[in-house]
Amino acid sequence: MSEHVNGTLFLVATPIGNLEDITYRAVKVLSSVDLIAAEDTRKTKILLDHYNINKPMMSYYSYNEKGRAPQLIEKLLAGQSIALVSDAGTPGISDPAFHIVQQALKKEIPIIPIPGPTAFISALIASGLPTNRFVFEGFLPQKKGRKTKFESLKPESRTIILYESPHRILKTLADVVAFFGNRRIVVARELTKKFEEIVRGNAEFVLAQLEKKTPRGEYVVIIEGNESQSDDALTFE
Ligand code: SAM
Repeated sequence: MSEHVNGTLFLVATPIGNLEDITYRAVKVLSSVDLIAAEDTRKTKILLDHYNINKPMMSYYSYNEKGRAPQLIEKLLAGQSIALVSDAGTPGISDPAFHIVQQALKKEIPIIPIPGPTAFISALIASGLPTNRFVFEGFLPQKKGRKTKFESLKPESRTIILYESPHRILKTLADVVAFFGNRRIVVARELTKKFEEIVRGNAEFVLAQLEKKTPRGEYVVIIEGNESQSDDALTFE
């Protein structure tokens, strides 16, 4: 009798804009699995078409993950291999993956990460702010708990990283000024895309720059830690 072998769950990082930002290995894995679980199947199809990959897809996003995970686990237990991808970047980073990873571990299903882009890492390395110690907070609460979160981050000495949408970026920058004062910050927009832009400066200056036009696209906000040792010689406004 042959021994039963579970399928593998691959967590595959995909581009954050530029379709060429994908590893050879990611393309190989996406071409070889039985099924691709995608946050947005239409968006992932654009990527798959670009690399001539034709594989069955299933949606897996934050509102259906609790229902979808058992179905995917069943397939993995039946020996199928599955690649999980998000809309952009690395699954599990402000995107679904955590739940299915926990469920898969309970069933001893092998999990293999396929590394690649993450918006905040690209923003951080180009920011000019200290990269040796940082804290990633993702999206801040919009209402309940927002003030407490800002207050708890105020004494944080590591570089602070946030994700933000175009609808809320000005409000968040105004809150950064109000809670943290005029610290150095960096706002990176539309990384790897046509309208990529990185604005560096003190918070009031960056806010004034962004207020000049209607915010569009996706944003990473990087805030200097409290009493940071960043290089004063850098040309921050
Ligand atoms: N999983 C993704 C990653 O690995 O970075 C993050 C997904 S999260 C739902 C989407 C947020 O990531 C956006 O609102 C924005 O804050 C950030 N983001 C994604 N792509 C970006 C880009 N090209 N430029 C700047 N920020 C980006």
